[in-house]
Amino acid sequence: MTSAARIIDVHAHVTPQRFQRAVLSGSDWFGMTPADGELGNIRNRWGPAQRLEAMDEALVDVQLVSPTDCFYQYGREPSVTARIAAECNDEVAAMVRDHPTRFMGLGPLPMQDPDLAVAEMERGLRQLGLSGFMIDDHVNGLTYDHDLFDPFWAAAEALRAFVFVHQGAPTSVTYRTQKYFLLNTVGNLVDRTLTYGCLVYGGVLDKYPALTVCLAHAGGYVPYAMDRMDQGWRMRPESRGRSRELPSSYLRRFYYDTVTYTDRNLRMLIDVVGADRVVFGTDWPAPMAVAQPVRRIRSSTALTEEERRSILTDNTAGIFTTSRTTRT
Ligand SMILES: [Zn+2]
Repeated sequence: MTSAARIIDVHAHVTPQRFQRAVLSGSDWFGMTPADGELGNIRNRWGPAQRLEAMDEALVDVQLVSPTDCFYQYGREPSVTARIAAECNDEVAAMVRDHPTRFMGLGPLPMQDPDLAVAEMERGLRQLGLSGFMIDDHVNGLTYDHDLFDPFWAAAEALRAFVFVHQGAPTSVTYRTQKYFLLNTVGNLVDRTLTYGCLVYGGVLDKYPALTVCLAHAGGYVPYAMDRMDQGWRMRPESRGRSRELPSSYLRRFYYDTVTYTDRNLRMLIDVVGADRVVFGTDWPAPMAVAQPVRRIRSSTALTEEERRSILTDNTAGIFTTSRTTRT
């Protein structure tokens, strides 16, 4: 298997074993309890060996492993969140060290304190060999157009971090209704669409043109939202914020994972953003993960052979070409 042909799953979670050891033995872990860990999902308890078996069965070569969103913990004292992030990052880094051909790592960061976040980002990339970080769509209600996050984006660009945006609970839909699981099935997608808007209108992408930002869950409603965002930009010039171009002109500045469930939606995503911006992702081991994710893409009649190759291997090969240790 050549490195360029590896199938890398950019959306794959882990519940750190050190958290599990603590909470399952009756202790708390930095104030977190079993309820914080989604341990009712048995796959969240699996160690690397069972994980590798599942990857083999699913034909996934590499997981870009990220601790579940439970570990954001942005509402805590920043020093506590920083310790939680550091522990998570140490564990993910150990997985990568133990299985360098099968795991790559994304960690959490203490985003409510951007200086601490930048320090942990530098440690994670330079010392631990992580590939990037997973962040929520907002930080205690603040969206990423806020100047507070300037140092974070500057560092993410300078260090070429892969930034994976993925909701935590609650999503914005939770405040409207907590019924019918809409907080997830709709909320995840709403939050991602808001993040797109805030990064675009906030001028973050204009200010930091070399960012690598991947929007989880296929970018949410972004493909469908573009026409109306563009129309709003044209009709309401006073609402353009710091954006320089139409919202849709930033579509190809992001990456989007393949966490869709039908050819129809995957096809629309590709038609709107281009196959070269879509990267393979599964959301394993969540209950909402995509089943048989590789076979599904390989057998899809909605995609061309070139599109399949782009999505399964070529795009991530391009993103993760250089060894992170040389990126200092
Ligand atoms: Zn996920």
